[in-house]
Amino acid sequence: MTVSVTVDVDGPAGLACRPGGPWEGRLTARSEHDFVWRGLERVVGVLDRYGARATFYVPGVTLEQDPGVFRELLEAGHEIAHHGYAHLPTPTLDAAGEREELERGIGALAAIGVMPSGYRSPGWELSPVTLSLLPELGFAWDSSLMADDRPYRLPNGLLELPVHWSLDDVPYFERHAPVDEVACTWIAEYDRAGEHVTYTIHPEFTGRGHRISLLERLLDHVGPTITHAEAAARS
Ligand SMILES: [Zn+2]
Repeated sequence: MTVSVTVDVDGPAGLACRPGGPWEGRLTARSEHDFVWRGLERVVGVLDRYGARATFYVPGVTLEQDPGVFRELLEAGHEIAHHGYAHLPTPTLDAAGEREELERGIGALAAIGVMPSGYRSPGWELSPVTLSLLPELGFAWDSSLMADDRPYRLPNGLLELPVHWSLDDVPYFERHAPVDEVACTWIAEYDRAGEHVTYTIHPEFTGRGHRISLLERLLDHVGPTITHAEAAARS
């Protein structure tokens, strides 16, 4: 049994996939997501304390706000992977738009020396067009689908490292669920699920002071973690 902690560093870009827009001019709503930087410090602090390495999925626009932060994550042994450019919801794009999101995201990652092998669609809305483009653009795995709780092969040869909404912090903390509820659910999944579990946290949600114990309790229970690149290499 192996575990990956994945950190989606969305920030305000993540709002593009949320109901309730448009978000322009809504300073308070946006600032709740600007907390991503403070939350990221706290998440990385816990990972460092546990010696745990994680895979950070980052939209290009967020990366370009502060590339130095992501260079430091690489130097610390973490992995950086592709999470779109502007975190646009794939169903709203035409085929050219989907290609542009992928290529601009690759360009942003290239600027910090990363050639991404892994992709995660914004809002977990993977489309057939994006899926068909991934092998052409050099990707080896995706982490957006939910058809098994073990890694599995997609028809185009890509490896899927599956996710699930119940293993993502946002659905819980959007409704201000207690940390106990999330920790109990995530630990139960580890105890009963398949051969590799992916957990997904967002620094602007789990990085709040009263929620960071979720990550500590998870790492206490599951022991060492592996990056998605390592999980892909083993599958
Ligand atoms: Zn996201």
